[in-house]
Amino acid sequence: MLQISQLTLPVEHADTDLRPALLKRLGIPDAALRGFTIKQRAIDARRQHVNFSYTLLAEVDHEPRVLKALSKDTQTCAAPDETYRQMAPRGEHIVSNRPVIVGSGPCGLFAGLLLARAGRKPILLERGKAAGDRARDVTGFWRRGWDFNPESNVQYGEGGAGTFSDGKLYTQIRDREHRIPWLLKEMVAAGAPEDILIKARPHIGTDRLIKVVRHLREEIISLGGEVRFGSRVSDVVIEDQTMRAVMLADGSVIEGAPIIFAIGHSSRDTFEMLHRNGVPFEAKPFSVGVRIEHPQRLVDQMLYGKWAGHARLGSAPYKFV
Ligand SMILES: Cc1cc2nc3c(=O)[nH]c(=O)nc-3n(C[C@H](O)[C@H](O)[C@H](O)COP(=O)(O)OP(=O)(O)OC[C@H]3O[C@@H](n4cnc5c(N)ncnc54)[C@H](O)[C@@H]3O)c2cc1C
Repeated sequence: MLQISQLTLPVEHADTDLRPALLKRLGIPDAALRGFTIKQRAIDARRQHVNFSYTLLAEVDHEPRVLKALSKDTQTCAAPDETYRQMAPRGEHIVSNRPVIVGSGPCGLFAGLLLARAGRKPILLERGKAAGDRARDVTGFWRRGWDFNPESNVQYGEGGAGTFSDGKLYTQIRDREHRIPWLLKEMVAAGAPEDILIKARPHIGTDRLIKVVRHLREEIISLGGEVRFGSRVSDVVIEDQTMRAVMLADGSVIEGAPIIFAIGHSSRDTFEMLHRNGVPFEAKPFSVGVRIEHPQRLVDQMLYGKWAGHARLGSAPYKFV
Protein backbone atom coordinates (compact mmCIF):
# COMPACT_ATOMS: atom_id res chain seq x y z
CA MET A 1 0.00 0.00 0.00
CA LEU A 2 1.30 3.45 -0.90
CA GLN A 3 0.54 6.72 0.85
CA ILE A 4 0.36 9.72 -1.45
CA SER A 5 0.32 13.12 0.31
CA GLN A 6 -0.43 16.66 -0.82
CA LEU A 7 -2.25 15.80 -4.00
CA THR A 8 -3.97 19.11 -4.69
CA LEU A 9 -7.09 19.76 -6.72
CA PRO A 10 -9.04 23.00 -7.18
CA VAL A 11 -12.16 23.75 -5.11
CA GLU A 12 -14.55 22.85 -7.90
CA HIS A 13 -13.07 19.50 -8.90
CA ALA A 14 -15.21 16.43 -9.44
CA ASP A 15 -14.67 13.17 -7.51
CA THR A 16 -13.72 11.56 -10.83
CA ASP A 17 -10.71 13.90 -11.13
CA LEU A 18 -8.93 12.09 -8.31
CA ARG A 19 -8.01 8.92 -10.20
CA PRO A 20 -6.30 10.64 -13.17
CA ALA A 21 -4.44 12.99 -10.80
CA LEU A 22 -3.23 9.98 -8.82
CA LEU A 23 -2.13 8.09 -11.95
CA LYS A 24 -0.21 11.17 -13.07
CA ARG A 25 1.52 11.48 -9.69
CA LEU A 26 2.49 7.79 -9.66
CA GLY A 27 3.39 7.69 -13.36
CA ILE A 28 1.51 4.43 -13.93
CA PRO A 29 -1.17 3.32 -16.42
CA ASP A 30 -4.79 2.96 -15.27
CA ALA A 31 -4.63 -0.83 -15.32
CA ALA A 32 -1.80 -0.83 -12.74
CA LEU A 33 -3.88 0.99 -10.12
CA ARG A 34 -5.84 -1.67 -8.22
CA GLY A 35 -7.71 0.76 -6.02
CA PHE A 36 -7.40 3.73 -3.69
CA THR A 37 -9.08 5.36 -0.70
CA ILE A 38 -9.03 8.86 0.72
CA LYS A 39 -7.17 9.02 4.02
CA GLN A 40 -7.49 12.74 4.57
CA ARG A 41 -8.84 15.83 2.84
CA ALA A 42 -7.57 19.22 3.94
CA ILE A 43 -8.20 22.71 2.64
CA ASP A 44 -5.09 24.56 1.60
CA ALA A 45 -5.88 28.27 1.59
CA ARG A 46 -2.36 29.63 1.63
CA ARG A 47 -0.86 31.82 -1.08
CA GLN A 48 -4.20 33.34 -2.19
CA HIS A 49 -5.34 30.09 -3.78
CA VAL A 50 -7.85 27.73 -2.28
CA ASN A 51 -7.31 24.04 -3.05
CA PHE A 52 -8.20 20.69 -1.60
CA SER A 53 -5.14 18.75 -0.54
CA TYR A 54 -5.61 14.98 -0.41
CA THR A 55 -3.73 12.16 1.28
CA LEU A 56 -4.57 8.90 -0.50
CA LEU A 57 -3.84 5.25 0.09
CA ALA A 58 -3.34 3.29 -3.13
CA GLU A 59 -2.78 -0.32 -4.08
CA VAL A 60 -0.70 -0.69 -7.22
CA ASP A 61 0.95 -3.49 -9.19
CA HIS A 62 4.70 -3.83 -8.65
CA GLU A 63 4.70 -1.41 -5.69
CA PRO A 64 8.47 -1.43 -4.96
CA ARG A 65 9.20 -0.66 -8.59
CA VAL A 66 6.68 2.22 -8.69
CA LEU A 67 8.10 3.67 -5.47
CA LYS A 68 11.67 3.41 -6.72
CA ALA A 69 10.85 5.18 -9.96
CA LEU A 70 9.41 8.20 -8.13
CA SER A 71 11.69 11.01 -7.13
CA LYS A 72 11.96 11.65 -3.35
CA ASP A 73 10.11 14.98 -3.44
CA THR A 74 6.82 13.49 -4.70
CA GLN A 75 5.41 13.01 -1.18
CA THR A 76 4.80 9.32 -1.74
CA CYS A 77 5.91 6.51 0.54
CA ALA A 78 4.94 3.04 1.72
CA ALA A 79 1.80 3.50 3.87
CA PRO A 80 2.65 3.44 7.60
CA ASP A 81 0.88 0.88 9.79
CA GLU A 82 -1.54 2.96 11.80
CA THR A 83 -3.66 0.21 13.30
CA TYR A 84 -4.82 0.96 16.83
CA ARG A 85 -4.21 -2.17 18.90
CA GLN A 86 -7.01 -1.39 21.16
CA MET A 87 -7.04 -3.46 24.30
CA ALA A 88 -5.04 -5.95 26.25
CA PRO A 89 -6.10 -9.48 25.31
CA ARG A 90 -8.81 -11.11 27.35
CA GLY A 91 -7.60 -12.51 30.64
CA GLU A 92 -8.04 -16.05 31.88
CA HIS A 93 -9.74 -15.35 35.21
CA ILE A 94 -13.46 -14.94 35.69
CA VAL A 95 -14.02 -11.49 37.23
CA SER A 96 -17.15 -11.31 39.32
CA ASN A 97 -17.18 -7.59 40.20
CA ARG A 98 -18.78 -5.11 37.89
CA PRO A 99 -16.83 -1.92 37.19
CA VAL A 100 -18.47 1.34 38.21
CA ILE A 101 -17.87 4.46 36.12
CA VAL A 102 -18.78 7.86 37.54
CA GLY A 103 -19.66 10.31 34.76
CA SER A 104 -20.93 9.77 31.22
CA GLY A 105 -18.88 12.38 29.38
CA PRO A 106 -16.62 11.28 26.48
CA CYS A 107 -14.22 9.69 28.97
CA GLY A 108 -16.86 7.73 30.90
CA LEU A 109 -18.82 6.68 27.80
CA PHE A 110 -15.79 5.24 26.03
CA ALA A 111 -14.53 3.54 29.22
CA GLY A 112 -18.03 2.05 29.50
CA LEU A 113 -18.07 0.97 25.86
CA LEU A 114 -14.72 -0.81 26.05
CA LEU A 115 -15.54 -2.51 29.34
CA ALA A 116 -18.96 -3.57 28.03
CA ARG A 117 -17.35 -5.05 24.92
CA ALA A 118 -14.90 -6.90 27.18
CA GLY A 119 -17.93 -8.51 28.86
CA ARG A 120 -17.62 -6.57 32.15
CA LYS A 121 -21.20 -5.17 32.27
CA PRO A 122 -20.20 -1.74 33.66
CA ILE A 123 -22.51 0.49 35.70
CA LEU A 124 -22.34 4.14 34.61
CA LEU A 125 -23.54 6.68 37.17
CA GLU A 126 -24.42 10.12 35.85
CA ARG A 127 -25.63 12.99 38.03
CA GLY A 128 -27.43 14.68 35.11
CA LYS A 129 -30.11 13.59 32.65
CA ALA A 130 -30.10 11.70 29.34
CA ALA A 131 -28.88 13.86 26.43
CA GLY A 132 -32.33 14.67 24.96
CA ASP A 133 -33.90 15.75 28.30
CA ARG A 134 -30.73 17.63 29.12
CA ALA A 135 -30.82 19.54 25.81
CA ARG A 136 -34.36 20.72 26.71
CA ASP A 137 -33.11 22.02 30.09
CA VAL A 138 -30.18 23.83 28.47
CA THR A 139 -32.23 25.53 25.74
CA GLY A 140 -34.95 26.32 28.30
CA PHE A 141 -32.36 28.10 30.46
CA TRP A 142 -30.72 29.88 27.51
CA ARG A 143 -33.81 30.93 25.57
CA ARG A 144 -36.98 30.56 27.64
CA GLY A 145 -36.04 31.97 31.02
CA TRP A 146 -36.21 28.60 32.81
CA ASP A 147 -34.44 28.39 36.17
CA PHE A 148 -30.90 27.06 36.12
CA ASN A 149 -30.88 23.34 36.92
CA PRO A 150 -27.72 22.61 38.94
CA GLU A 151 -27.78 18.93 37.90
CA SER A 152 -28.77 19.32 34.23
CA ASN A 153 -26.87 21.96 32.30
CA VAL A 154 -24.02 22.59 29.88
CA GLN A 155 -21.55 20.76 32.14
CA TYR A 156 -23.65 17.99 33.70
CA GLY A 157 -25.59 15.27 31.93
CA GLU A 158 -25.09 12.56 29.32
CA GLY A 159 -22.19 13.31 26.99
CA GLY A 160 -20.63 15.63 29.59
CA ALA A 161 -19.19 19.00 28.58
CA GLY A 162 -18.56 17.44 25.15
CA THR A 163 -22.25 17.53 24.18
CA PHE A 164 -22.34 21.32 24.21
CA SER A 165 -18.72 21.93 23.20
CA ASP A 166 -17.69 23.69 20.00
CA GLY A 167 -17.73 20.26 18.36
CA LYS A 168 -14.14 20.27 17.16
CA LEU A 169 -12.89 16.71 16.81
CA TYR A 170 -9.24 17.52 16.28
CA THR A 171 -6.40 18.09 18.65
CA GLN A 172 -2.77 19.09 18.73
CA ILE A 173 -1.67 16.11 20.79
CA ARG A 174 0.52 13.51 19.07
CA ASP A 175 -1.52 10.38 18.48
CA ARG A 176 1.32 7.86 18.54
CA GLU A 177 -0.97 4.90 19.15
CA HIS A 178 -3.44 5.86 16.41
CA ARG A 179 -6.38 6.10 18.75
CA ILE A 180 -8.02 9.02 17.02
CA PRO A 181 -8.93 7.25 13.74
CA TRP A 182 -10.33 4.39 15.83
CA LEU A 183 -12.36 6.83 17.90
CA LEU A 184 -13.72 8.61 14.84
CA LYS A 185 -14.79 5.27 13.34
CA GLU A 186 -16.66 4.48 16.53
CA MET A 187 -18.42 7.83 16.30
CA VAL A 188 -19.43 7.18 12.69
CA ALA A 189 -20.76 3.75 13.68
CA ALA A 190 -22.79 5.59 16.34
CA GLY A 191 -24.33 7.97 13.79
CA ALA A 192 -21.78 10.74 13.15
CA PRO A 193 -21.37 11.85 9.50
CA GLU A 194 -18.84 9.77 7.56
CA ASP A 195 -16.82 12.73 6.35
CA ILE A 196 -15.28 13.15 9.82
CA LEU A 197 -13.09 10.17 8.85
CA ILE A 198 -11.30 12.09 6.11
CA LYS A 199 -11.64 15.78 6.97
CA ALA A 200 -8.41 17.26 8.31
CA ARG A 201 -10.48 19.34 10.75
CA PRO A 202 -13.51 17.24 11.54
CA HIS A 203 -16.39 18.87 13.39
CA ILE A 204 -19.79 17.73 14.63
CA GLY A 205 -22.58 19.84 16.14
CA THR A 206 -24.59 19.28 19.33
CA ASP A 207 -27.64 18.09 17.36
CA ARG A 208 -25.68 15.12 16.03
CA LEU A 209 -23.65 14.53 19.18
CA ILE A 210 -26.87 13.89 21.07
CA LYS A 211 -27.64 11.04 18.65
CA VAL A 212 -24.08 9.69 18.91
CA VAL A 213 -24.05 9.57 22.73
CA ARG A 214 -27.49 7.91 22.74
CA HIS A 215 -26.20 5.17 20.42
CA LEU A 216 -23.10 4.64 22.57
CA ARG A 217 -25.35 4.30 25.62
CA GLU A 218 -27.60 1.83 23.79
CA GLU A 219 -24.63 -0.36 22.89
CA ILE A 220 -23.39 -0.41 26.49
CA ILE A 221 -26.87 -1.45 27.65
CA SER A 222 -27.25 -4.07 24.91
CA LEU A 223 -24.07 -5.72 26.22
CA GLY A 224 -25.43 -5.95 29.74
CA GLY A 225 -24.17 -2.60 31.07
CA GLU A 226 -26.32 -0.05 32.89
CA VAL A 227 -26.52 3.73 32.63
CA ARG A 228 -28.25 5.37 35.59
CA PHE A 229 -29.16 9.05 35.34
CA GLY A 230 -29.92 11.34 38.26
CA SER A 231 -27.28 9.40 40.20
CA ARG A 232 -24.88 11.79 41.87
CA VAL A 233 -21.99 10.16 43.68
CA SER A 234 -21.67 12.01 46.99
CA ASP A 235 -19.29 9.80 48.96
CA VAL A 236 -16.98 6.80 48.65
CA VAL A 237 -16.14 3.77 50.79
CA ILE A 238 -12.39 3.21 51.10
CA GLU A 239 -10.90 0.20 52.94
CA ASP A 240 -7.22 -0.70 53.05
CA GLN A 241 -6.47 2.13 50.61
CA THR A 242 -8.80 0.57 48.05
CA MET A 243 -12.02 2.18 46.91
CA ARG A 244 -14.68 -0.48 47.40
CA ALA A 245 -17.93 1.38 46.77
CA VAL A 246 -19.57 4.69 45.99
CA MET A 247 -22.50 6.25 47.80
CA LEU A 248 -25.18 8.15 45.91
CA ALA A 249 -26.91 11.32 47.09
CA ASP A 250 -30.02 9.21 47.90
CA GLY A 251 -27.94 7.14 50.36
CA SER A 252 -27.69 3.95 48.27
CA VAL A 253 -24.30 2.21 48.12
CA ILE A 254 -22.91 0.55 44.97
CA GLU A 255 -19.88 -1.69 45.07
CA GLY A 256 -17.55 -1.84 42.10
CA ALA A 257 -14.12 -2.95 40.96
CA PRO A 258 -12.59 -0.95 39.53
CA ILE A 259 -14.28 2.37 40.23
CA ILE A 260 -13.44 4.91 37.55
CA PHE A 261 -13.98 8.62 38.16
CA ALA A 262 -14.57 10.27 34.79
CA ILE A 263 -16.01 13.47 36.20
CA GLY A 264 -14.43 16.12 33.97
CA HIS A 265 -13.08 19.39 35.29
CA SER A 266 -16.12 21.13 36.75
CA SER A 267 -17.47 18.79 39.41
CA ARG A 268 -16.00 20.70 42.33
CA ASP A 269 -18.21 19.15 45.02
CA THR A 270 -16.94 15.72 43.94
CA PHE A 271 -13.29 16.84 43.92
CA GLU A 272 -13.76 18.15 47.47
CA MET A 273 -15.39 14.89 48.57
CA LEU A 274 -12.56 12.80 47.08
CA HIS A 275 -9.95 15.08 48.66
CA ARG A 276 -11.68 14.72 52.06
CA ASN A 277 -11.45 10.95 51.63
CA GLY A 278 -7.70 11.10 51.10
CA VAL A 279 -7.61 10.57 47.32
CA PRO A 280 -4.36 12.17 46.12
CA PHE A 281 -4.69 15.16 43.81
CA GLU A 282 -2.16 16.97 41.69
CA ALA A 283 -2.72 20.59 40.73
CA LYS A 284 -2.13 21.58 37.11
CA PRO A 285 0.69 24.14 36.89
CA PHE A 286 -1.46 26.68 35.04
CA SER A 287 -4.66 26.62 33.07
CA VAL A 288 -6.61 29.56 31.70
CA GLY A 289 -9.47 29.49 29.23
CA VAL A 290 -10.61 32.47 27.19
CA ARG A 291 -13.47 32.36 24.75
CA ILE A 292 -13.27 34.74 21.81
CA GLU A 293 -16.06 34.91 19.27
CA HIS A 294 -15.83 36.27 15.74
CA PRO A 295 -18.57 36.29 13.09
CA GLN A 296 -18.07 33.18 10.95
CA ARG A 297 -18.58 35.25 7.79
CA LEU A 298 -15.56 37.40 8.66
CA VAL A 299 -13.35 34.35 9.25
CA ASP A 300 -14.52 32.74 5.97
CA GLN A 301 -13.76 35.95 4.09
CA MET A 302 -10.28 36.25 5.60
CA LEU A 303 -9.32 32.68 4.82
CA TYR A 304 -11.16 31.86 1.61
CA GLY A 305 -11.48 35.26 -0.09
CA LYS A 306 -13.74 34.97 -3.15
CA TRP A 307 -14.52 31.34 -2.27
CA ALA A 308 -16.05 32.32 1.11
CA GLY A 309 -19.40 30.62 1.63
CA HIS A 310 -18.75 27.94 -1.03
CA ALA A 311 -20.74 24.84 -0.10
CA ARG A 312 -17.77 22.49 -0.50
CA LEU A 313 -15.58 24.45 1.88
CA GLY A 314 -18.01 24.92 4.74
CA SER A 315 -17.00 27.10 7.68
CA ALA A 316 -13.35 28.14 7.78
CA PRO A 317 -11.40 27.03 10.84
CA TYR A 318 -9.09 29.46 12.56
CA LYS A 319 -6.66 29.62 15.37
CA PHE A 320 -5.95 32.69 17.45
CA VAL A 321 -2.32 32.84 18.60
C1 LIG B 1 -17.55 25.61 26.12
C2 LIG B 1 -16.67 24.41 25.86
C3 LIG B 1 -16.25 24.15 24.56
C4 LIG B 1 -15.44 23.04 24.29
N1 LIG B 1 -15.11 22.76 22.99
C5 LIG B 1 -14.41 21.64 22.70
C6 LIG B 1 -14.16 21.28 21.35
O1 LIG B 1 -14.60 21.93 20.39
N2 LIG B 1 -13.45 20.15 21.11
C7 LIG B 1 -12.97 19.36 22.16
O2 LIG B 1 -12.34 18.33 21.88
N3 LIG B 1 -13.20 19.69 23.45
C8 LIG B 1 -13.92 20.79 23.74
N4 LIG B 1 -14.17 21.11 25.05
C9 LIG B 1 -13.61 20.25 26.10
C10 LIG B 1 -14.38 18.94 26.24
O3 LIG B 1 -15.75 19.20 26.38
C11 LIG B 1 -13.82 18.19 27.45
O4 LIG B 1 -12.45 17.97 27.27
C12 LIG B 1 -14.50 16.84 27.61
O5 LIG B 1 -15.91 16.98 27.72
C13 LIG B 1 -13.95 16.13 28.85
O6 LIG B 1 -14.57 14.87 28.91
P1 LIG B 1 -14.72 14.09 30.28
O7 LIG B 1 -15.52 12.86 29.99
O8 LIG B 1 -13.39 13.95 30.90
O9 LIG B 1 -15.53 15.08 31.25
P2 LIG B 1 -16.96 15.78 31.08
O10 LIG B 1 -17.32 15.90 29.65
O11 LIG B 1 -16.93 17.02 31.90
O12 LIG B 1 -17.97 14.74 31.73
C14 LIG B 1 -18.02 14.52 33.13
C15 LIG B 1 -19.37 13.90 33.47
O13 LIG B 1 -19.34 13.48 34.82
C16 LIG B 1 -20.59 13.79 35.45
N5 LIG B 1 -20.33 13.90 36.88
C17 LIG B 1 -19.53 14.79 37.50
N6 LIG B 1 -19.54 14.57 38.82
C18 LIG B 1 -20.36 13.53 39.06
C19 LIG B 1 -20.79 12.84 40.23
N7 LIG B 1 -20.37 13.22 41.44
N8 LIG B 1 -21.66 11.83 40.11
C20 LIG B 1 -22.11 11.43 38.88
N9 LIG B 1 -21.74 12.06 37.73
C21 LIG B 1 -20.88 13.08 37.82
C22 LIG B 1 -20.99 15.11 34.81
O14 LIG B 1 -22.38 15.33 34.91
C23 LIG B 1 -20.52 14.91 33.35
O15 LIG B 1 -21.54 14.35 32.55
C24 LIG B 1 -15.00 22.19 25.36
C25 LIG B 1 -15.43 22.46 26.68
C26 LIG B 1 -16.25 23.54 26.93
C27 LIG B 1 -16.71 23.79 28.35
